[in-house]
Amino acid sequence: MKRDKAVVVFSGGQDSTTCLFWALEQFEEVEAVTFDYNQRHKLEIDCAKAITEELNVRHHILDMSLLNQLAPNALTRADIPVSDGKDGELPSTFVPGRNLLFLSFAGILARGIGAKHIVTGVCETDFSGYPDCRDIFIKSLNVTLNLSMDENLVIHTPLMWLNKAETWEMADNLNAFDFVREKTLTCYNGIIADGCGECPACHLRQNGLNQYLAEKGVL
Ligand SMILES: [Zn+2]
Repeated sequence: MKRDKAVVVFSGGQDSTTCLFWALEQFEEVEAVTFDYNQRHKLEIDCAKAITEELNVRHHILDMSLLNQLAPNALTRADIPVSDGKDGELPSTFVPGRNLLFLSFAGILARGIGAKHIVTGVCETDFSGYPDCRDIFIKSLNVTLNLSMDENLVIHTPLMWLNKAETWEMADNLNAFDFVREKTLTCYNGIIADGCGECPACHLRQNGLNQYLAEKGVL
């Protein structure tokens, strides 16, 4: 039997789209929430919109431009280059407090629409050093959210311990492999599907895809 209602934190990328398919299998009713924080590419919002429409999922878009006001970074400002974190430094794509804010707002939204479950695609395995993708942070925030609203929300992180190849495998097992490959946007340069092939996000996605296809015997 499917569990009741869930909100999926949704960006239109590979990870959150895989989570959306996972949630559609797990829960009776699913809604998605996308945060608009002036990310480099408005295309990300359009992409999220198109996917939820196609899957017939109710879509909430929340204005989080204040995040850019607080912490300009490579994802929100075209004049800051995207770079990998080196020597233990955080990459320039790190947005301080992003998951703290997104999941808190998702929690408030969940309460408002009567959903007991929140699904997010954060992952500790390939977390690029982002501290707010760690399992311990999610568990801590889950407790805090429930204390703050006297609720029993559960934050689900189906990708937490998967590498990128295993995330592709999950999409495949959910019969969503082609959908995820062709319709999601991961690339920092705003190119849908297989992307620009040059940016860190494309490298991560492509390496995982190649690894999965190799394991499957397709490559
Ligand atoms: Zn790219």
